Amino acid sequence: MQPPRSILLRALLVASFIGLVVVLLGTLFSFTLGLGIGLLMLFGIWFAHLRQLSRLVTWARQPLGTPVPDGYGLWEDVFAALYQRSREQREQRQALQETLERFRKVAQTLPDGVVILTEDLIIEWLNTNAEAHMGLSAQRDMGYPITNLFRDAAFVDYLQAPQFGTSLELRPLRSSGRVLNLQLVPFGEVQMLLLTRDVSQLEKLETMRRDFVANVSHELKTPLTVVSGFIETLADGIDDIPKDDVRHYLDLAAEQAQRMQQLIEDLLILSSIETGSPPPHEEEVMVAALLADVRGEITSLSAGRHQITVDSSGPALLRGSAKELRSVFGNLAGNAVRYTPEGGKIHLVWAPLPEGGAAFSVRDSGLGIAPEHLPRLTERFYRVDRGRSRDTGGTGLGLAIVKHVLERHQAELVIESELGHGSEFCARFPAHRVSAS
Ligand code: ADP
Repeated sequence: MQPPRSILLRALLVASFIGLVVVLLGTLFSFTLGLGIGLLMLFGIWFAHLRQLSRLVTWARQPLGTPVPDGYGLWEDVFAALYQRSREQREQRQALQETLERFRKVAQTLPDGVVILTEDLIIEWLNTNAEAHMGLSAQRDMGYPITNLFRDAAFVDYLQAPQFGTSLELRPLRSSGRVLNLQLVPFGEVQMLLLTRDVSQLEKLETMRRDFVANVSHELKTPLTVVSGFIETLADGIDDIPKDDVRHYLDLAAEQAQRMQQLIEDLLILSSIETGSPPPHEEEVMVAALLADVRGEITSLSAGRHQITVDSSGPALLRGSAKELRSVFGNLAGNAVRYTPEGGKIHLVWAPLPEGGAAFSVRDSGLGIAPEHLPRLTERFYRVDRGRSRDTGGTGLGLAIVKHVLERHQAELVIESELGHGSEFCARFPAHRVSAS
């Protein structure tokens, strides 16, 4: 753009030119003619300015973004300056729009819900998480007071007397089971941000943790009460109780101590696999040796009360942690013995799967399990028959350990059972875990 000094210079030049024409015509012809022509020229210039001015006014009345008209003479500079301005403004608007868009995108991808509220608690904007958490719709509900749309009394009180820095925990009636944590944060001059977070999972974990502590305490309390009872009895009558009775009490106390020890061992195994510690050293485990080992163990556990058979037609090697696989096979086979009455049959099978991989299954002709219990069997401390589990030395953690170990080996546990007719527990290993040699 030209500096104002050049504009003045140009005006001066034009004025001098007109003056020169007037003087020249005045000298050559007559001053009246000279002045007349000079006036005509001034009038032409004035008219040209008026035309440009009217184009400027017309342009200024057009919507933002209308291209600046072309001008000539001094007006070329004016229009060029305006064009420059309008381009800068357009660029600024675009940058602002982009920033706003970026903010919205960021707010959309946040794991939390975000609602922008005006001073009067009207929804100005909200992201999809907030829509899902609060059962609102951006399209339908923007521009309406949030307290009309989400009418929970505690929520309304919280919004109407906001205490920034505190949060509110809510269980919305509309979405059963969901627990929300809401927090109001001041934003801008008078606006507020409502942050919403779904804490249902955390709540569930907290309940599980509480249940777990209660279960462990309960499991330890029973044998501990028995042991301390025996100790008291023995201490009170140390001289009077016959030696045979003392031995009997000590045997029972030792049995309870053994139970506690087993429980703690199982808990330690479970906690090490549940906390996601890396799987122990993996190796190619010889399935034949593993089956022989497990057969030996359950034969002694059964003490001749069951008919035990083993059938192995699957791949020779199974890749994994020898110790963990031993515990899975042992647990499943051990349960079959413990939950099958005397005279029952137990069949251990290692066989290839039609879709690849192989499965270790334990079939028994025992008590069987009613269908409603099946989905919960692998929960910690879940037992169908508490008494039988305890009497046979169970901790209620065996199948929870089995499930976790199998997950670490990309295997799955499939349980089929019919009450009164027996059960089949099947550990299915994927193809990459097995090999022939
Ligand atoms: P427990 O130490 O009580 O045996 P588990 O986790 O090994 O704990 O098993 C959970 C429950 O599943 C058992 O209490 C029992 O009720 C049921 N169960 C497991 N295996 C069998 C089976 N072969 N037959 C019948 N019920 C079984």
